[in-house]
Amino acid sequence: MHELSICQALLNQVEALVRQHGARAARRVTVRVGALSGVVPELLARAFLLARAGTRACDAELIIEYAPVRVRCERCDAQSEASANNLRCAACGDWHTKLVSGDELVLVSVEMIKDKGPDVRNKAAANPCVSTLNPLT
Ligand SMILES: [Zn+2]
Repeated sequence: MHELSICQALLNQVEALVRQHGARAARRVTVRVGALSGVVPELLARAFLLARAGTRACDAELIIEYAPVRVRCERCDAQSEASANNLRCAACGDWHTKLVSGDELVLVSVEMIKDKGPDVRNKAAANPCVSTLNPLT
């Protein structure tokens, strides 16, 4: 499943960020999915639920932002929204456009749970995230 490997890569990024910021876990992960990225948001959301098990994002919520297809016209230089099967300039109708956005899949933000209490290390050691229901093990 294409989306699962995307999620795993995404979660690697999230874990690195959580570690880098000395946080305990990720609470909310926001990604932007372009209409031309080839990623199906529903499948991505489902894959995230599988992939997050055992990571520091195990309770994190995934927020998916949809990025519209935007093009810049090479003739009139206007930027406009386009649809995946029609990349024509909305201003002058010319076909000579360049994609500005819409094919991306990016990690936009990660909201983290920080607790600087003395029990941080204990919590990390006794990781409640390691679920016996993890279908990947
Ligand atoms: Zn134009």
